[in-house]
Order: sequence, then C-alpha cells, then structure tokens
Amino acid sequence: MAQIIDGKAVAAKVRQEVAQRAAEFTQQYGRPPGLHVLLAGDDPASAVYVRSKEKAAEQAGFAGNVQRLPATITQAELEARVAQLNADPAVDGILVQLPLPAGIDEKPILELIDPAKDVDGFHAISVGALWTGQPGLVPCTPKGCMRLLQEAGVQIAGKRAVVIGRSNIVGKPIAALLLAAHATVTIAHSRTEDLPGLCRQADILIAAVGRAKMIKGDWIKPGAAVIDVGMNRDDNGKLCGDVDFASAEPVAGVITPVPGGVGPMTIAMLMDNTLQAAHRRQAAS
Ligand code: NDP
Repeated sequence: MAQIIDGKAVAAKVRQEVAQRAAEFTQQYGRPPGLHVLLAGDDPASAVYVRSKEKAAEQAGFAGNVQRLPATITQAELEARVAQLNADPAVDGILVQLPLPAGIDEKPILELIDPAKDVDGFHAISVGALWTGQPGLVPCTPKGCMRLLQEAGVQIAGKRAVVIGRSNIVGKPIAALLLAAHATVTIAHSRTEDLPGLCRQADILIAAVGRAKMIKGDWIKPGAAVIDVGMNRDDNGKLCGDVDFASAEPVAGVITPVPGGVGPMTIAMLMDNTLQAAHRRQAAS
C-alpha cells in the first residue's frame, strides 16, 4: 500500500505560507504583490481556472486584476496590454491565460512578457535560466510536483527518474528540475520504445501524458514514487489521471491521486511565483 500524497493539504499549506509572507512584504514595502491576468476569449475551462487564480490571489492578499478581453481582440491589442503591464511598477506577475483565441499567435505574446514578471515561467529566458541553473521563475505545475516529492520525503539525488511527456509546460521543466536535484533522468514520449519496461526502472515516475489510466500497476517498480500530472476524463466522464490508480497504488511507495494530487499545487505555486517575483523586483529596484 502506497503513501498517498494529499496535494490539497500541501497546496493549502503553501498558500498559507505565501499569505503570511505576502503580509510581511506589504508591511515592508508599503504595497502588496501584484498579479495581473489577461483572459482573452470565452473558453469555459479558462474562465474557471482564472476565477480560481483570482480567488487564490485575493486570499493571498495580492493586488491585481483580471482583464477579460473579447475573442475578437487583435494580436496588436493583446501585445499592447502586455506592454502596459510590463511598464506598470505595481505589477509583479503577468499571466496570459492559454489557450488564446483562434488567430492570435501565442509565442510572440509570451515572449513579450518581461521575464522578471513571467510567473508562468514560459518565457525563453525563464526556460534558459531553469536549464542553466540560474535564478528565474519556474513553471507552476512542475514546481508543484517537486514540492510534493519533497513533502513526501522522497529522496531524489542519485535516483532514476522517468518523465513521460515532453511538453514545454510540464514534461521538460519537470525533467530539468529533477536533473537539478541530481536524479538520473529519462524523458519518454509517444515514440519511446518499450515504455512499460522503461517505467519499471524508475524510482521516480512522473506521468504527464494526457491519456486516461494509461500507466498500469505492472509498469511500476515496487516502492517507486509516482506523480500523476494527467487530468483526463474516464469512460464515465469522471476526472482521472494518466496512472491507473487502482492497480498502481498497491505497488508504488508513494503516489498522488487525481483529483487532489498535483492539480491544487499549480495555483499554489503561481502564488509562490508571484511573491518571488515581487521580492526579486523589489530587490532590483
Ligand atoms: P501535451 O499534449 O502537450 O504533451 C503530452 C506528452 O505526452 C507529449 O510529449 C506526448 O509525446 C506524450 N505522449 C502522448 N501519448 C503518449 C503515449 N502513448 N506514450 C508516451 N507518451 C505519450 O500535454 P501537457 O504536457 O500539456 O499535459 C499533460 C497532461 O497533464 C494532460 O493530461 C494535462 O491535462 C495535464 N496537466 C495538468 C496540470 C495540472 O495542473 N495538474 C497542468 C498542465 C497539464 P509527443 O511529444 O511525442 O507527442
């Protein structure tokens, strides 16, 4: 039987810590940390995510707002909004909610964000800082995964880690963080041969695929730490991860559930990143 990591509880603890430190920041500098979100279009899932981020920011004692923009916004208008936020000294964190409406090219928008305010950690400068071990803002979900491993007392240095998924927002940054923590890391993807065999070698297995219950219990090394980033719907429409929890949990040493594992950590780490950005900007001013 595995130790089940309670991501909700860890996220609540992180958010409480952030709120406490944000209050100290406000007292010290006479202004709260500021998080600003640009939400363009009417994607219903994005609206829900942004509302959660807004609520979390309020609870953390941050200033800021959400600019809700029409799906008809042009590339130039959106870029002008980012430029305004870059220039505003009260703004510590800028988040452009993805996906952007059809017709908007996401890359130049993300690259326009001041790296000092890049709380999603998607800017090429943030990515370069992560891979070269320099200070910078780290993407929220990967950072949340590392915190969960830490909270569960999982030893990382010297261990064999397999990350399934090579996206820029999840798979690659998790691999970079595990490498920085001295794991021996393999990144698997859709072309990987004998994925089950590779997974069986992993002391730490991170699933960031987007395929419901793909990873079975007999793919898992007994006692391994299993972090399930996936957010999928099963045949009954129920939220589930990439890992088949029922067969994996008896084999793993520690495991995250879905829901209630990695999911809540993403917003908690966004708050943490905003506070970190605020401190860095204040120190640089
Ligand atoms: P992407 O679709 O961008 O990437 C998926 C990765 O999985 C790709 O690298 C792909 O390989 C790989 N893959 C797909 N099929 C297979 C397969 N059969 N075998 C091996 N590898 C495969 O997804 P994201 O990285 O954005 O997200 C991954 C999951 O994490 C999703 O379920 C998403 O909803 C969830 N997520 C959860 C978050 C949270 O807060 N909990 C936040 C962000 C994402 P290839 O590159 O070869 O195509």
